[in-house]
Amino acid sequence: MNTLTAFTRWLENGGRTIGQIAITRSGEGWELRHADDAGELQTFTRWQDARTLATLDDAGAFRPIKTTNDLRHGWRIVLSTVAEVVRALDYFYPAMLGLWTADARGELTPTDLRDTLARQTGMYRITQKLTDEQAQALIGRQCSRCLKTMLWRIAPAQPITSLPPEKHQRAAFPLLCREACNLLVGLARGVVKEATSPESSTAAASPPA
Ligand code: SF4
Repeated sequence: MNTLTAFTRWLENGGRTIGQIAITRSGEGWELRHADDAGELQTFTRWQDARTLATLDDAGAFRPIKTTNDLRHGWRIVLSTVAEVVRALDYFYPAMLGLWTADARGELTPTDLRDTLARQTGMYRITQKLTDEQAQALIGRQCSRCLKTMLWRIAPAQPITSLPPEKHQRAAFPLLCREACNLLVGLARGVVKEATSPESSTAAASPPA
């Protein structure tokens, strides 16, 4: 079953919320809005508008990951067809509908963190030195702001323990994380570099004041 067919069936079965977005009927068409919003909202009528709406948060800051829990408020997009809804959702939550469909077909294979880091080259090769403890702390900090259900572990015998169990359980319409994103890998580089810098060894060796 392709994504459009699967998503149409999901809507027909009463599915109405994806991440922070509520989907409702609007005449013969559909309306998308932030799930927290009600009342007067700025109206858009093109699925392409989702791209702009997904870019910045309420404070105007860039959202490097579109699945963090800071989708801006104050808008509604009115669309005519389910195909347009799918396109808009692909801007709000890139690749998520495709992964959802692949997961339903049993075709989604997660990649554990150690495998993701093992294939890093150049300036990111240093991330292979990330300790398990550093990985748990980093994931606990960064991924707790993200709405995705995490399917990967640190290594086969090493689950992620720094996030609540719900973070690993599929929601009604799960946004799926099948491997560590580029942002997390970039932050892992920063953690390793900081931990191995001469300043940090000096600081670690210095007695507390
Ligand atoms: S690794 Fe996955 S869950 Fe964590 S922030 Fe990146 S996309 Fe979200």
